[in-house]
Amino acid sequence: MNYSGIKYADMINGIGIRVSLFVSGCNHACKDCFNAETWNPKYGEEFTVKQEDEIIEFFKKYGKTIKGLSILGGDPTYPQNIEPLIKFLKKFKAELPDRDIWIWSGFTWEEIMQDKKKKELISLCDVLIDGRFIRELKDLNLKWRGSSNQRVVDIKKSLACKEVQLLEF
Ligand code: SF4
Repeated sequence: MNYSGIKYADMINGIGIRVSLFVSGCNHACKDCFNAETWNPKYGEEFTVKQEDEIIEFFKKYGKTIKGLSILGGDPTYPQNIEPLIKFLKKFKAELPDRDIWIWSGFTWEEIMQDKKKKELISLCDVLIDGRFIRELKDLNLKWRGSSNQRVVDIKKSLACKEVQLLEF
């Protein structure tokens, strides 16, 4: 898996001060995508154990000031990204069980629930921003998403209820 960047102390992508990881690879081809260079899974650099450990060390160094981890793209649920992210998130949660994890996907919650591996990845996270960016539904006033079809999903509640539950914020 490749990544295009890591933002430390990011305050835009989720609630609180966070670390945001931008992974490469996406096959949704949304019109007016804000990040089209990241569609190519080879864009950026390889995400290795070195970057995993740097992220975890950053959390440990700054303690509870850093609320959680955000995984964006590209698309974190792009096929080649799923296994590496499952591995990383298991390690992250073992070291930092009290931090939340937000993840963005071009697939909808319903599509993700139909796919065993995507579901496994999402189940390791707390909040999902789902669905493709739809130019006609673009709304600059929305938090954390570009178009009004996209939802901010409370993953744990949704898994328990077996239907989408939106995050209260
Ligand atoms: S899912 Fe996101 S990264 Fe992929 S094409 Fe759509 S807007 Fe761009």
